[in-house]
Amino acid sequence: MRTRRIFIKRAGLSTLALSLPFSDTLSAMNFKKEDKVLRVAIMGLGSYGNRVAEAMVNCKRAKLVGVISGTPSKIEDWKKKYSIPDKNCYNYENFDQIKDNPDIDAVYVITPNSLHKPYSIRVAKAGKHVICEKPMALNAAEGREMVAACKAAGVHLLVGYRMHFEAKTMEVVRRQRAGEFGETLFFQGLSGFRIGDPTQWRLNYELAGGGSMMDIGIYSINGARYMLGEEPLWVTAQEMKTDPVKFKENVDETITFQMGFPSGAVASCLSTYSLNNLDKFFLNGTKGFAEMQPSTGYGPIKAWTNKGPIDAEHITHQTTQMDEMAAIILDGKKPMIPVDGEEGLRDLVIVDAIYQAVKTGEKEMIA
Ligand code: NDP
Repeated sequence: MRTRRIFIKRAGLSTLALSLPFSDTLSAMNFKKEDKVLRVAIMGLGSYGNRVAEAMVNCKRAKLVGVISGTPSKIEDWKKKYSIPDKNCYNYENFDQIKDNPDIDAVYVITPNSLHKPYSIRVAKAGKHVICEKPMALNAAEGREMVAACKAAGVHLLVGYRMHFEAKTMEVVRRQRAGEFGETLFFQGLSGFRIGDPTQWRLNYELAGGGSMMDIGIYSINGARYMLGEEPLWVTAQEMKTDPVKFKENVDETITFQMGFPSGAVASCLSTYSLNNLDKFFLNGTKGFAEMQPSTGYGPIKAWTNKGPIDAEHITHQTTQMDEMAAIILDGKKPMIPVDGEEGLRDLVIVDAIYQAVKTGEKEMIA
């Protein structure tokens, strides 16, 4: 019991949330009319920015009120589509002026990875809460700078980990913490898709900071941590490249990696830009198993255990995420699985160790 408590503490999980059935842990969705609304500006009006904006139309506690973009034509489209006033529109040169705008509470940074750190820090210095997409930064050193800047500015730093609010994921995590699967000693995470256009920023080291690991492999890292409820002690990793033209130096196509945990549990994971429909989590314990496939896509997520399927209504992930993030920022709500800067940083420490292990071929201890 003592060990399990330590793990829960390490994983940053709220013990109160863990004792509740998963439907109650999403109780922030039963909002009252008088609840305050988080007023959000989206930065980076690309593919995922559009998805978030569309999902926010159905939010009860978060509202899209502003944009930050380098493309004037997109700003015009968004102004019409979402009734955004001129005074809430910025570009990358002038968005520091957001500090003088009392009608925006938070900025959601949805740009290529290398811009997450500089833009998030500018948002924090402007006194606005930061919601930043994954990976939070290019490496742990950058992540630490972001955490420190947001702390110094007295603003929240949250990472767009939408799965942390997904009902079936939360139910599997709740059952794992309740001991339903016994001692969970094995996790398998398979995360990948086949990437297209070779000119896109995801294959540009300067903008992406790496390859599949930064983009999709991070789901298996993060998933291993929340499914096992422990923090890894070590990693080993191996890289495979079938197309060195498309996947240039420092841009990983495929990495397999293993993580060892204090309980003796191991995780065996695959991150790739070469296989489609690869999205599976499998957790096995001394008493049972949980399997999720798809496990981190936009859903509906499918989950089952040795006792049968897990049923829960599919709600657009980004709608739940933004409502829950509003509750975190405005009410101080503690999510069952954290989404703060420290959580984003933990994944970056592991990403750093995986890239190091690929280089050295050695087992790398997690700092
Ligand atoms: P896109 O390329 O579709 O959009 C990125 C946007 O960032 C651009 O449209 C552009 O918007 C802005 N931008 C600013 N500077 C640059 C630059 N130098 N090069 C290219 N774009 C620039 O990417 P995604 O929307 O797919 O990804 C953005 C972020 O969201 C990534 O960090 C990614 O990891 C994350 N993501 C998260 C997902 C999740 O499920 N949580 C899913 C998909 C992505 P503008 O023209 O308005 O300036």
